[in-house]
Amino acid sequence: MPCGRPPAIKEKAVGLPISFEFFPPKTPEGVVKLRAVRQQLYRARPEFCSVTYGAGGSTHTGTFATVGEILAEGVAAASHYSCIGATRETVRVQLGELKAMGVTRLVALRGDLPSGYGMGGEFQYASDLIGFIRSETGDHFHIEAACYPEVHPQARSPEADLQALVAKVRAGANSSITQYFFNADAYFRLVDEARRAGIEAPIVPGIMPITSSTQLMRFSDACGAEIPRWIRSRLLAYGDDVASIRSFGLDVVTDLCRRLRDGGAPALHFYTMNQSQATLAVLDRLG
Ligand code: FAD
Repeated sequence: MPCGRPPAIKEKAVGLPISFEFFPPKTPEGVVKLRAVRQQLYRARPEFCSVTYGAGGSTHTGTFATVGEILAEGVAAASHYSCIGATRETVRVQLGELKAMGVTRLVALRGDLPSGYGMGGEFQYASDLIGFIRSETGDHFHIEAACYPEVHPQARSPEADLQALVAKVRAGANSSITQYFFNADAYFRLVDEARRAGIEAPIVPGIMPITSSTQLMRFSDACGAEIPRWIRSRLLAYGDDVASIRSFGLDVVTDLCRRLRDGGAPALHFYTMNQSQATLAVLDRLG
């Protein structure tokens, strides 16, 4: 792709609704850079953009500020919101803040506290949070839950993890977004099992573009997403050759998205890592 000027992406060419995920920048430079990244990504006409929320409320200000900027840019924004360590009262107050800002979409999560913090708080699971949001705010929010094609690392069993998703949908989640994965069969199996368990809500695959092997391996170790051996060994063999990593990553992720689209995925949610090029390159190829 020519440097710095990604071609316009036509919504119909991709063939599926898409959404983008950002994290709240930590520095003023990061805020400025993310604004430019968003403008580039908006060419792909996302259905919405979401902003992550640090567990324990650590990014509350940055998350809400970024969500506010996206709304002011005329794009639908979803705030992630995690309940670990939270009380009903703080959640009630912050839901009020989000409503006052005009936010109508949430990605509602349990979250993970750094080790040593313990659980604390008045919510144990994301399903408790989702039920609370519904009881407090009715149908105001469209709520997305998280789900895990390769099973959440703390789940007692795959079946228990499926039941956790059932509980989130019964509590009021409208749809769910998956953890990223590189094995399309794991996604299709989750969808089949969810349908058999009575879940009709859409299950949207989360897509992680590959731009750096060290970053990908670090994240995957932390969240329990598997990097298949054939991908891992090639990434390791490329060493510091960033161009080859990106080119290989583009092939892998585009093929994955094609399989998901052809297999009936209802939408694609991109973990952009606050970068535009890798995501736009995939969308361009999909067109
Ligand atoms: P839960 O659904 O509560 O599940 C947590 C664990 O408990 C699972 O192992 C589940 O199987 C188990 N469980 C659930 N209910 C029960 C029950 N009734 N009995 C027994 N076991 C149960 N983290 C952040 O901190 N900020 C973010 O912005 C963020 N965004 C994310 C976005 C997406 C799309 C995804 C997939 C993940 C995101 N995460 C984020 C990570 C997420 O917070 C972690 O994966 C967390 O460990 C689990 O969150 P959850 O909402 O799936 O929790």
